[in-house]
Amino acid sequence: MAFTKKTVRDIDVDGKRVLVRVDFNVPIKDGVVGDTTRIKAALPTINYLVEHNARVILMSHLGRPDGTGFQAEFSLEPVAAKLAELSGLDVSFVADTYGEKAAEAVAAVEPGKVLVLENVRFDKREKKNDPEIAKTLASYGDVFVLDAFGTAHRAQGSVVGPAAYLPAVAGFLLEKEVDTLTGIFAEPERPFVAIVGGSKVSSKIGVLDHLIDSADTLIIGGGMAYTFFLAQGLSVGNSLKEEDWVERAGEMLKKAEEKGVKILLPVDNRVADHFGEDAVPEVVSSDSIPDDREGMDIGPKTEELYAEAIKGAKTVFWNGPMGVFEFDNFAHGTEAVCRAVADADCTSIIGGGDSVAAVNKFNLADKMSWISTGGGASMELVEGKALPGVEALNDAE
Ligand code: ADP
Ligand code: MG
Repeated sequence: MAFTKKTVRDIDVDGKRVLVRVDFNVPIKDGVVGDTTRIKAALPTINYLVEHNARVILMSHLGRPDGTGFQAEFSLEPVAAKLAELSGLDVSFVADTYGEKAAEAVAAVEPGKVLVLENVRFDKREKKNDPEIAKTLASYGDVFVLDAFGTAHRAQGSVVGPAAYLPAVAGFLLEKEVDTLTGIFAEPERPFVAIVGGSKVSSKIGVLDHLIDSADTLIIGGGMAYTFFLAQGLSVGNSLKEEDWVERAGEMLKKAEEKGVKILLPVDNRVADHFGEDAVPEVVSSDSIPDDREGMDIGPKTEELYAEAIKGAKTVFWNGPMGVFEFDNFAHGTEAVCRAVADADCTSIIGGGDSVAAVNKFNLADKMSWISTGGGASMELVEGKALPGVEALNDAE
C-alpha cells in the first residue's frame, strides 16, 4: 500500500518556517540521554529540511510531566544538545513552548538552522488537544510536519493541532513506519510468517485477528500460549492464563483453520516451580505440564519447529517475546526465534517495546529489515486502525 499523505518531498520549504513534531521521548537519567535511537530516527527529515534551506522548529514531549509547568527531569535541553552532537547541525534551544520567549526564538531562526522548543507536555492543555495550543504552535510555522511516529496514535495538541491551520505533511520516519507496517497486510512477499508472543492474549486480540487475515503461518509463544492450550483442552498448571479469553482463543484457532492459516503452538515448554530470576527451568511437553509448575519459555523442540518455519519465510513480522526473556534462564526461546529471524533471507519487521528490547539484548538489531520506533502506534497499525496524527495530514494528490 502506498502512503496516501503528502510528505516533505511534496512541498517547497526553502526559507520557510517548518514546524516539526518529532518523537524525542528518550530515556534520560541525571540529565544524560541514554538510548538515542529516536533522535537518530528523526535525522533524515531534519537533515533534509536543513539541506533545503528551511528554518526548522522542533517540538516533542518527553516523559510524563504533571502538566503544571517546568520540571527539570523532563526538560528537552539535554536532548537538544545530543541532537547537535549527533547531527553536527546548528541547534539552539529555548526554555519555553507557548509563551513570548518561544515566539521570539522562533522569529530569530535563520534558514538552515534548528530550534528545539521545550517539552510540549509542561502545559496540560497539550494532552487535552486544546485549540489554543494548536493555534499558538501553528503561528510558529508556515508548514507543519509530523514525524513523531511514536505518538501518532494520540490526538494531542502538538500531534494533530497545527494540521488544522497549516499545510500538513509527513516526515520520512512516519512515512516509512506506516508504509512498512501496513505493507504486510497489502502485498507481503510470501510465505508471510507472523510471530506473536508476550504475556496476554487480551492485549493482542486485535493484532492476532488482523494477522490471521494476512499471514500464511502464525507462530504463537509467550504467556499467551497457555490460554490457547486451555482452548485445546490441555492443562497448564500455574502458567499465566486468562480464563475469560479461552473461548475467544478457540474462535481464533477456528478462524485460522477456515482461512487455511497454519497456527504453530509450543510442543514443549520450559517450566519452573516459581516465577523468579533464580527459578530453574525444566522441559516438559505441552500435554504434560504438572499442576505445580508454570510455563516460562518455549522448549527446545519448539525452538526447532519455529526456526524451521521462519527459515522458509519471505516476510516475517514479530511482536512479543517467547518467554520471560528478562530472566536469563528463560531467554533461550526468544533468542532462538530472534536468531532464526535474523538468519532468514526475508524482510523482517519487529514491533513492540519488549520485542525491540529483546532484539537489542541479543545484538541482532542490524540484522533486521525494520525495527519500529513506536510501541503503541505500531500495534494500532497492526490491528488495522488508522492513526489520528496521520489522518490529520493533507492527502497526496
Ligand atoms: P511487546 O512489548 O513486545 O509488545 P508484551 O508487552 O506483549 O511484548 O509482552 C512482553 C512481556 O511478556 C515480557 O515482560 C515477558 O516477560 C512476558 N512474558 C513472556 N512469556 C511469558 C510467560 N510464559 N509467562 C509470563 N510472562 C511472560
Ligand atoms: Mg510490552
